[in-house]
Amino acid sequence: QEKLDLIAQRVRAIPDFPKKGILFRDICPILKDPGAVAAVIDLFEEYVRQTNLDIDLIVGLDARGFLFGPLLAQRLGVGFVLVRKKGKLPGPTVSVSYCLEYGKAELEIQEDAVSAGQKVMLIDDLLATGGTLAATCDLMTQKQATVLGCLVVIELKELKGAEKLGTHRLFSLLQY
Ligand code: IMP
Repeated sequence: QEKLDLIAQRVRAIPDFPKKGILFRDICPILKDPGAVAAVIDLFEEYVRQTNLDIDLIVGLDARGFLFGPLLAQRLGVGFVLVRKKGKLPGPTVSVSYCLEYGKAELEIQEDAVSAGQKVMLIDDLLATGGTLAATCDLMTQKQATVLGCLVVIELKELKGAEKLGTHRLFSLLQY
């Protein structure tokens, strides 16, 4: 609980960003405090170890999943791979498109990043509508990888993102 309190103190709410009416949850203050970063990784690690899941890879989402993912992967002694917005990754890629509030977006992974049969855990900073993580689950299914679950620092409960993830389990540290 002490760790959660520290993390919660390091999340800042910024009104009207990126547009009017949106309350943006900013995790930058967590990163500025090494104790808070350690608390995040400790709690993720505890969760993963206690679930006894046999993870092959941590898969991080563009861009703030990259801030926590490699640290957790290092702790667990597994590799880390990147899911990026279209056009950022070199070499052959596999992609998935998904709907945003206005229009569409595409996510990509390098073709050789994940192999069939591997068990992966997804990580991002925040779950809102769940569109991004759900699309990444689809991408993993395309690669015939098994999604063991999704980890986020923050879950925005009223947007019901957890429902969008279907049967994939979600672990969030803070809920708003
Ligand atoms: P979703 O696809 O609607 O669940 O949106 C989640 C994605 O948008 C994540 O990659 C987040 O980093 C980003 N995001 C949405 N809202 C916020 C916010 O309030 N703070 C930080 N990131 C956000």
